[in-house]
Amino acid sequence: MARKIGSRYTANQILGRGSAGTVWLGEGPEGPVAVKLLREDLASDQELVGRFVQERTALLGLEHPHIVTVRDLVVDGNDLALVMDLVRGTDLRTRLERERRLAPEAAVAIAADVADALAAAHAAGVVHRDVKPENVLLDMQGPLGPGGAHPALLTDFGVAKLIDSPKRTRATKIIGTPDYLAPEIVEGLPPRASVDIYALATVLYELLAGFTPFGGGHPGAVLRRHVTETVVPLPGIPEELWQLIVQCLAKAPASRLRASELAARLREQLPVLAGMPPLEVDEPEPAEEAEAEPQSPSAQAEGEPVRRRGAVSLVPGARPDSNRDTHTSMRVPGPDELAGGAHGTARAPRAAGAPRPGSARHRAAVRRRRITLGVASVVVAAAVGVGAWLISDGDDTESPQHTHSTSTP
Ligand code: ADP
Ligand code: MG
Repeated sequence: MARKIGSRYTANQILGRGSAGTVWLGEGPEGPVAVKLLREDLASDQELVGRFVQERTALLGLEHPHIVTVRDLVVDGNDLALVMDLVRGTDLRTRLERERRLAPEAAVAIAADVADALAAAHAAGVVHRDVKPENVLLDMQGPLGPGGAHPALLTDFGVAKLIDSPKRTRATKIIGTPDYLAPEIVEGLPPRASVDIYALATVLYELLAGFTPFGGGHPGAVLRRHVTETVVPLPGIPEELWQLIVQCLAKAPASRLRASELAARLREQLPVLAGMPPLEVDEPEPAEEAEAEPQSPSAQAEGEPVRRRGAVSLVPGARPDSNRDTHTSMRVPGPDELAGGAHGTARAPRAAGAPRPGSARHRAAVRRRRITLGVASVVVAAAVGVGAWLISDGDDTESPQHTHSTSTP
């Protein structure tokens, strides 16, 4: 089922499907490549195609050992494709799902690679805006690094931005998976380099803990936690590493480290972490657990999907995301939904086997996270903020040379 992409590439076999399109194993003049063929509705959007071509230079210019290089952008008839270096391996989400928690040394080595990639991007004036485990590819053919970690490469630069055109955003009301969103984004400020640092610190926490610091439950609640809650310490984590995470999860963007410094500080930790097993962390109960009715056995029998952190359902009663969608397909709930509507606050189905209720720590966490009426107004304000960011997103005025968000590293 090979197909031609432009005059130079052939797509031979599907490697994976994402929210923006399908990734193919392809062949180009210089050997094997990965070809991301954008979804038809995206490819037929004239405005998006225009932006795609406009961003060519910025996207093609990013070359770094820890960035998946975009080799070419092809606009051919109805096809819109991104030709990338082929990475032979898996994405970090897949590894995390397999291992649940990574040994600290491997987690920190991976995070340091991503921090290096971000340092290069930020220096070039590009903010990634969608750092999360799905967008980190592990190169299984690369040399094994500290803790048995393969080299990590950051991918999908600029794709979130391309697809979040103001028009598209208004039409479908889309935001990113809320777990990695920096608080200033929730408050409606334009995304600068420091949003990537916050997202990376969230990823590192997740690699160590098995869950994100502020995720779980209704997305409105997740947004609120980013703004108001402090991160809960992980038992057994070395103090210096913990301080790095805390600093990069600072609510104030200016308090976070720059990417290059973060990379260096993370690598300094590696010798201390060598040989340390994964942390033993109790998974917190879903926020809604205490309020939710017990799930009926029939719902489970019907294959009610297991709630996974980082993939919460956005609409009361909706199924959790099964496809790890990002900015490109999530919907901001309306104010009525956020305020509770007929159902009260949204409740995620209880994850089969995942929660371990009962401990005092869990009960405390549930109490902390219980959504009160007062909070509903904060959430509405937050959603308005996100909406404002998405809508104003297209008229980024700080980037004279191209339309990516400009960092101020
Ligand atoms: P989206 O971001 O649009 O949701 P992804 O970029 O995550 O989609 O791509 C979907 C899948 O395709 C990934 O999980 C990965 O397995 C595969 N893939 C993406 N880019 C590459 C690449 N450069 N090399 C190899 N496989 C890739
Ligand atoms: Mg992706």
